[in-house]
Amino acid sequence: MKAVQYRTVGAAPEVVTVPRPEPGPGQVLLKVTAAGVCHSDIAVMSWPAESLPFALPLTLGHEGAGTVAALGEGVGGLEPGESVAVYGPWGCGGCLMCAQGKENYCLRAEELGIRPPGLGAPGAIAEYMIVDDPRHLVPLGDLDPVASVPLTDAGLTPYHAIKTSLPKLVPGSTAVVIGTGGLGHVAVQLLRVLSPARVIALDVSEEKLELARAVGAHETVLSDADAADRVRALTDGVGAQAVFDFVGAAPTVATATACAAVESDVTIVGIGGGSATVGFGTVAYDAAVRAPYWGSRAELIEVLDLARSGAVEVHVETYSLDDAPLAYERLHAGKINGRAVILP
Ligand code: NAD
Ligand code: ZN
Ligand code: ZN
Repeated sequence: MKAVQYRTVGAAPEVVTVPRPEPGPGQVLLKVTAAGVCHSDIAVMSWPAESLPFALPLTLGHEGAGTVAALGEGVGGLEPGESVAVYGPWGCGGCLMCAQGKENYCLRAEELGIRPPGLGAPGAIAEYMIVDDPRHLVPLGDLDPVASVPLTDAGLTPYHAIKTSLPKLVPGSTAVVIGTGGLGHVAVQLLRVLSPARVIALDVSEEKLELARAVGAHETVLSDADAADRVRALTDGVGAQAVFDFVGAAPTVATATACAAVESDVTIVGIGGGSATVGFGTVAYDAAVRAPYWGSRAELIEVLDLARSGAVEVHVETYSLDDAPLAYERLHAGKINGRAVILP
């Protein structure tokens, strides 16, 4: 089968032919219907060999959807041909976090060598993929896999981040979204459907800001050194009750903390290498700074239900498997508006 692999540190991903996998006991083989392309892959592919937490070659893709192609020994509860989405942050299934469905915060994954598909285990940008356990699948039903597959990360990650801050997003409050790409343009929609907050979107690209307005941002601000002042001006000097940074680079983290209101949440989702300076006087009184990772199994079900109600729509650009390296190139160059989805 064809697969898109990261093979050599620092090199671009390649389309290769690999043996079609067989599901082992307890596993599920999916025929991939759609796979999303995330900026985290680009970050990982920029890391030096000694920082890579997995071996190469690696089949990429941690946003996956497919139809059930074969069941390993002992697997029940799934029908061949059933359309499913893959919950990516695989955990051990048994620790205190996993028992709550929060496999993204599994306490034993590292010790047991459990890695998400596309970030250690063979990923979704291939004709077929192995899912290690049926509990990591959510039925899609009538949902279009192409439009829904980004919800497994670009939807789930902002959903998890936003849900925690909902008590602060009361009527009259403001939420700031920094970086309205794959995750950010879904975040804007989630904020609009889940809260009465006014949403201010920041990006460096006018095209991305246009998408942000189209999906519901009330205000857009160009992300530069003055952005925090403009957010303060738009909020009568108060700042935002919740700030979500989907870039996470030094300048955006600085903007995020600078526009945070008293008792606000500052949530750094992007892995751009920036970090916040938190101490008395460096942020507004009682502001909380968090750096969450992905989301829980229950939250993925909730996000997909939200999509089913029509409340969230991912802006998707599709590519063939052969063109997946081009999708990565375009994402790296900031040219993808919304999410790139590969159709194997
Ligand atoms: P993306 O490339 O689709 O979107 C990034 C957006 O940020 C683009 O619209 C870009 O124009 C904008 N941007 C770049 N520099 C900016 C700046 N200085 N100010 C404002 N906007 C700026 O990326 P994505 O796939 O949506 O991922 C976003 C980030 O989230 C990445 O860092 C990714 O690695 C990370 N991520 C984290 C998690 C997690 O669990 N914490 C999960 C998924 C992705
Ligand atoms: Zn991702
Ligand atoms: Zn666990």
